[in-house]
Amino acid sequence: MDASYSLMVHGGAGVLAAADDPERARRYLDSLHRVLEAGRLILLQGGASLDAAEHCVALLEDDPLFNAGRGSVLNEDGEIEMDAGLMDGRTLAAGAVGAVPRIANPIRLARRVLDAGDAVLLVGPGALRFAAECGIPEVARDDLVTFERQQEWTRVRGRKAGPSSPDPSRIESSGTVGAVARDLQGRLAAATSTGGRVNKPAGRVGDSPLIGAGLYADDASCAVSATGHGEELMRVLLAATIANAVAYRDLDAPAAMDFGVQILRNRVSGRGGAICVDRQGRCAAGHTTPRMPHGWIERGGEVHCRL
Ligand code: ASP
Repeated sequence: MDASYSLMVHGGAGVLAAADDPERARRYLDSLHRVLEAGRLILLQGGASLDAAEHCVALLEDDPLFNAGRGSVLNEDGEIEMDAGLMDGRTLAAGAVGAVPRIANPIRLARRVLDAGDAVLLVGPGALRFAAECGIPEVARDDLVTFERQQEWTRVRGRKAGPSSPDPSRIESSGTVGAVARDLQGRLAAATSTGGRVNKPAGRVGDSPLIGAGLYADDASCAVSATGHGEELMRVLLAATIANAVAYRDLDAPAAMDFGVQILRNRVSGRGGAICVDRQGRCAAGHTTPRMPHGWIERGGEVHCRL
């Protein structure tokens, strides 16, 4: 097996109106580029893919451009509830949190769940109690809610009241973040974090923290981080479908991605996408939505980013 590293990140499948505005498009591309270079540093120094994926997602959570951590969308109560998960392809260990409020970096909390090894998924109040036990502080609501997300929520709520308006939760909201990595030792990891769908029901957990739906990693096949309409992704287990295509059909990342995206489209008319790094370090991205900002470093090469 060759000793090279690969890394991919995404910023959510969706419409991304910002792509038509050169100034705002540049902000997305710069952010993805910066995060990939930060992840590269970890991998170049021999760091673990799990640490690189976690770090990249934490940086994206800190960037209010994205719907994760600070900048998460608001649910029907006008509150933030976030989901995040990560998986280690070497051991198949996984950690995830669902519907957590007031945590600046849910992916770091998910990592603590993985390291503790007791549970794979913690939700709601129990997840907050676990955070306190780990010394992860709760932050104020206003540290996470941005002006733009508050405005978006008000707009969506207003439209929802209109009798003939389409259900806005079906068309808005992208900006989930994710990362997949292969390190110099050939270890794979995946991480995904999101605020979910705008105006979602309180207590709703999407695909992002669900192993096999929003993420999957196995050194024997590939690492996948998925994004899109969670209820559709869950039904086809998008991340596991792509990973199984590598494992059992002997496909590489690009072919497995095509297979997974086809299943998403054909079986549930699903709106979403994913990124994937396979055990050989091949990178692939695919989506059924108009956009999915993403970037990659394939086998130690240059950074590439696309909206
Ligand atoms: N998959 C996320 C969810 O349904 C949202 C997204 O990726 O845009 O919670």
